[in-house]
Amino acid sequence: MSTLTAESFALHELEREEPRTSDGGGLTLAMKVANVWEGLLATGVAACPVCGDRIESAAGGGRCVGCGSTLH
Ligand SMILES: [Zn+2]
Repeated sequence: MSTLTAESFALHELEREEPRTSDGGGLTLAMKVANVWEGLLATGVAACPVCGDRIESAAGGGRCVGCGSTLH
């Protein structure tokens, strides 16, 4: 029988919840929005977390060219 310490359990949980950057399926909405902002600020464009289309910088935020979602 194995013995789980609090430390190993916490590490295991971290690994399990690590976001899969390949498809973004493991990202929470908050993390997606944070990524959008990061992309917008860095390059002026980002991927829409809703439809996957392109979000372009707009006044005070960003706007998706695909679904029209806005970021403020
Ligand atoms: Zn969109």
